[in-house]
Amino acid sequence: MMITGKNYIGNQNSAKGDKIFTTFNPLLDKNNDWKITEATPEEIEEAVSLATSAFKEYSQLSGKKKASFLRAIAEEIESLGDNLLEVYCAESGLPQGRANGERGRTLGQLRAFANHLEDGNWVEATIDTAQPDRQPLPKVDLRKMNVALGPVVVFGASNFPLAFSTAGGDAAAALAAGCPVIVKSHPMHAATGEMVASAIVKAAEKTGMPNGVFSNLNSNGNDVGQQLVLNENIKAVGFTGSLKGGRALYNLAATRKEPIPVFAEMGSVNPVVLLPKSLENRAESIAKTYAGSITLGAGQFCTNPGLIIGIKSEGLTNFTNNLASDIKEVAPSCMLHPNIANAYYKNKETALNQNGVAVLADISENVPSNFAAQAVITVSGAEFLKNPTLHHEVFGPFSLLVQCGDKAELEEVIANLEGQLTGTVIADDNELENYRTVVSELQNKVGRIIFNGVPTGVEVCPSMLHGGPYPASTDSRFTAVGVDSIKRFVRPFSFQDWPNNLLPEELKNENPLGILRTVNGVKTDKEI
Ligand code: NAP
Repeated sequence: MMITGKNYIGNQNSAKGDKIFTTFNPLLDKNNDWKITEATPEEIEEAVSLATSAFKEYSQLSGKKKASFLRAIAEEIESLGDNLLEVYCAESGLPQGRANGERGRTLGQLRAFANHLEDGNWVEATIDTAQPDRQPLPKVDLRKMNVALGPVVVFGASNFPLAFSTAGGDAAAALAAGCPVIVKSHPMHAATGEMVASAIVKAAEKTGMPNGVFSNLNSNGNDVGQQLVLNENIKAVGFTGSLKGGRALYNLAATRKEPIPVFAEMGSVNPVVLLPKSLENRAESIAKTYAGSITLGAGQFCTNPGLIIGIKSEGLTNFTNNLASDIKEVAPSCMLHPNIANAYYKNKETALNQNGVAVLADISENVPSNFAAQAVITVSGAEFLKNPTLHHEVFGPFSLLVQCGDKAELEEVIANLEGQLTGTVIADDNELENYRTVVSELQNKVGRIIFNGVPTGVEVCPSMLHGGPYPASTDSRFTAVGVDSIKRFVRPFSFQDWPNNLLPEELKNENPLGILRTVNGVKTDKEI
């Protein structure tokens, strides 16, 4: 397919503006040829207006119809073939294998949402039937289910050009919920975004979706995103990126006459707690595993283990020495974009210059431009507690090892952490018993806790929780991964004494969809 650099305003290609930008190939260290046109304020307005009218029809479609749309999107993405992967690689510097894996994940997510809609139980239908004879007052008939919020803006993530961008997790969740989606395409992979957008538009046309159910807007600056977030017809925002960007958009949404939710996933340092017995027994293998996890994908994962905490001991020293030598063995890899690489080097430098920090490993030779030189540094628990700068995420293949004097200090370090996506405990089987307070302290800080593993690698399934207390995400009650992420884009809604024939299928007495409902406090798929 040819890249036009145009926006999709609903089903129409459009490029009315004169702000042109290009994407960058970090591996070749040069601009890509595609000329991308930023959306104009008028085009943005048109996309929102189309989404607003599409919402009326789209939000009322059956689960089956929306599922057929999501399945068609997956098929159309597949039929873009390897050309999509080539463009993905040219705009990200990521290897073909990763591109292929991420495409598989994206298709899997779309199909999982389609299954979820066909299954139908996600609306959480809850019915309390009337009791006309109840004393002293009759009881009304009430029926509640989840309904779509309205048009949603999705900010594509730089570090997942497919799985968390144009047809990624946020977009799939919002479309599944019945919300039209306007994607603010990430400027670093706008051509990949255009290809995926073309697949969504084809799928929308093939399955008879209303025009405006999806738009894709290009931009290379803050204006487009800000105009979208401030538009009164936008009802929610999905975002993955930096704390600075996520917080700015969250604050902006709060200034609106009608504030709206901004579901921002802003990453974290993902603390890993090493308990002493595990280090006594297997410091070497833990170090090897972590050298791999820290450098995976040039460390550009929101679940990258950026903070390792242990208690000073021979085992910890052994781990430290092994990690330092293992990580030096890993070949540096290319980062997504010079801006990301520059931010990495700047943040790494800041961390290195803090009081009491010692360098364990910092590759500096033979690192090509835009490649990340991985580093592991260390500091005492006391210094870490004193210095908030050391708590900041260094996005890239970087980890800070905090060496605590004793168990009490370990607990204090954890108690002083900000909210995190994940926390990991490395322990021997019967060791956890003695560290219960450490574990419960950690649990209070994170969205997911891992036993004897690594935080990288986020399984996409219903029981996954990818989110966490602020600043990992803006709302720890929700996940950004897995089918439950649909809950971000719905609101519960009640019908009181509504005529049976006018109720949505999900709430009718006959239960025509055969879904599982809670009727007068009992879970059942029977009719009433
Ligand atoms: P970003 O700067 O947060 O930008 C993400 C998106 O939000 C972009 O589309 C950007 O649009 C938009 N945006 C940012 N600030 C905005 C504002 N004030 N108003 C309106 N829109 C705004 O993240 P990034 O470009 O993907 O990467 C930069 C850094 O973010 C990385 O170095 C890394 O530190 C962090 N990051 C973290 C994770 C994670 O999961 N932890 C993932 C990705 C990135 P424009 O670019 O068009 O302005």
